[in-house]
Amino acid sequence: MIDAKSLKPGSLVIHGGQSVEPVTGAVVPPIFTSATYAQSSPGEHKGFEYTRSHNPTRYALERLLATLEGSEITLDEDPSLGGFAFSSGLAAMATCLELVEHGARIVASDDLYGGSRRQLSMVRERTQGLEVVYVDMTDLDAFAQAMTPATAMVWVETPTNPMMKIIDLEEVTRIARAASENVLLVCDNTFATPFSQRPFDLGFDVAMHSTTKYINGHSDVVGGALIAKTTPLAEQLRFLQNAIGSVMAPFDASQTLRGAKTLGIRMERHTENATELARFLEAHPRVESVIYPGLDNHPQVDLVKRQMRLAGGMITFCIDGGLAEARRFAESVRIFQLAESLGAVESLVNHPAIMTHASVPAATRDKLGIGDNLLRLSVGIESIEDLVADVEQALESIN
Ligand SMILES: *Cc1c(COP(=O)(O)O)cnc(C)c1O
Repeated sequence: MIDAKSLKPGSLVIHGGQSVEPVTGAVVPPIFTSATYAQSSPGEHKGFEYTRSHNPTRYALERLLATLEGSEITLDEDPSLGGFAFSSGLAAMATCLELVEHGARIVASDDLYGGSRRQLSMVRERTQGLEVVYVDMTDLDAFAQAMTPATAMVWVETPTNPMMKIIDLEEVTRIARAASENVLLVCDNTFATPFSQRPFDLGFDVAMHSTTKYINGHSDVVGGALIAKTTPLAEQLRFLQNAIGSVMAPFDASQTLRGAKTLGIRMERHTENATELARFLEAHPRVESVIYPGLDNHPQVDLVKRQMRLAGGMITFCIDGGLAEARRFAESVRIFQLAESLGAVESLVNHPAIMTHASVPAATRDKLGIGDNLLRLSVGIESIEDLVADVEQALESIN
């Protein structure tokens, strides 16, 4: 295995945690579908007993994600370097929430992915007795007030979805650790990706991903991941991954690993395209406002520059008008597909109030600013001229 610390990010996404297959020398990890592994004598095996517990194809992906996030766990300490892959992002979240006890207090950002909020509020508050406090974490005073010595976990997503607010991870760490000694800091790093933002470097304990999005990048596998910063946490997550069992299948791990290897060039292109499209939208008379972390008018532009290497491919904008105009835009685009999800090579448009964030109560949506004229673009890696032309004709069609 090549020493990850010696590699620049563009090489790390290809070689991080990877090694040739020892029996055949295969450069790409084969898809090991075997559910079980032969033992030479009871309890004597080659480190593999049963695929829920260990699978070489899944390990390859898990090791790549762990090195990308900057884990310093060694193979002797954990066979997948502290990376764990799951059947979906929400399965990863569900497993992560098992790190805290029944009745635990969690402080979460108020602008979470709709499904994450649904799991917290509509499932775990009931079944795990969690006390979840939502707070606008861009307001660090409000966050400090929400923190108590008994808070067991902080759950952050940045940039937030769909309002593209940036949460200062370093400050969250400082405030959280001052308030609560044993608090676990978890960052859903799906939007930024570890190619752009590394929560461990800023003091976080766990990075979570929906690998369905940028990591896989091709809209053809649903998956999730957790990465632990320390060996004791990796031990706990290894136990929970096996005990709960919502693991990623070997075929999905192979597909996701293939996708992940182009994460670097994709993120660069997503960012280039989104920057140009955001500027175009900003100047268009039928657009009321544009929120993109790569624009100089983003309210937290200095923090963006400090915390993120790349601004990414997500743009949120408000169309001049209401639901009817937003609907017409979404129906009129031709290259952009109207679909949930994000982070893939093809461009998508989403109407959060009706689609991804429908499970967020209307009053909360209003408070967050997710109005009926708000649209979210996941800008793909197509030729930018085509994307601009598509958005332009769709904006003209709403007149
Ligand atoms: C999609 C998404 C999830 C949920 O992941 P699934 O793979 O759909 O289960 C969680 N967080 C964020 C930020 C997401 O975009």
